[in-house]
Amino acid sequence: MPPADTAPATSNISVRRGEPLVIVDHVDKHFGDLHVLNDINTVVNRGEVVVVIGPSGSGKSTLCRAINRLETIDSGTITIDGEKLPEEGAGLAKLRADVGMVFQSFNLFAHKTVLENVTLAPIRVKRMSRKDAEAKAMELLERVGVANQAKKMPAQLSGGQQQRVAIARSLAMNPKLILMDEPTSALDPEMINEVLDVMVGLAEQGMTMIVVTHEMGFARKAADRVLFMADGRIVEEATPAQFFDHPESDRAKDFLSKIL
Ligand code: ADP
Ligand code: MG
Repeated sequence: MPPADTAPATSNISVRRGEPLVIVDHVDKHFGDLHVLNDINTVVNRGEVVVVIGPSGSGKSTLCRAINRLETIDSGTITIDGEKLPEEGAGLAKLRADVGMVFQSFNLFAHKTVLENVTLAPIRVKRMSRKDAEAKAMELLERVGVANQAKKMPAQLSGGQQQRVAIARSLAMNPKLILMDEPTSALDPEMINEVLDVMVGLAEQGMTMIVVTHEMGFARKAADRVLFMADGRIVEEATPAQFFDHPESDRAKDFLSKIL
């Protein structure tokens, strides 16, 4: 299926899909003495879904945050759609519009309705009219299955519904890339699948996604590649089938034996 955000039908999707969208090149970061990102190199192509897994503390969240410039890096470069990550100012606002982020803890605005949560950034940042922003928001809420909750406050929704609103909110900016950091880890088990289903749908529609998750079912179904991180390094990079069925490193074998 063609990427939802790449118009016109005549464009050569197969070529566009192959283009590098995110290039992480020799990235290093320390927190004091801790080498949290140690020579990270990877390329995420347009339309690809990359799952990042690894033990707690291995640097997965820091890598996501660096790609969204929520964290600075010490050296190396991160390029998104041909542009080096900006240091500050207007470039940073544009980056935040281009790169959606979904966190473990939903992070919805508690004092705004579901609908307002989704329309806020398009109105403020993209200068969309309220009418257009609301129409688009309702479409997105429909797509993630919570349109009937639009008038409610976030606290009135279940965790799974809130996380689906958070996904709709990030889609409302037409991002080039969505980063998700353990989007189902805070959910009760019975709500995990409703969020994973939405994520699989996005993947099938060609959204470029970097997803930190230990949900192996999602990785097998939706991921083009798995990055396994340990101690700030990418230790393995493989297809889900290769990685789960034939992990190469002792670190990965050990990790998988604990979670599978
Ligand atoms: P993961 O997401 O893989 O669990 P993180 O990227 O959150 O790992 O963290 C990697 C390491 O960096 C951990 O040891 C963590 O304690 C440390 N760390 C994360 N953020 C900070 C920070 N702001 N200051 C100091 N240390 C941090
Ligand atoms: Mg983390």
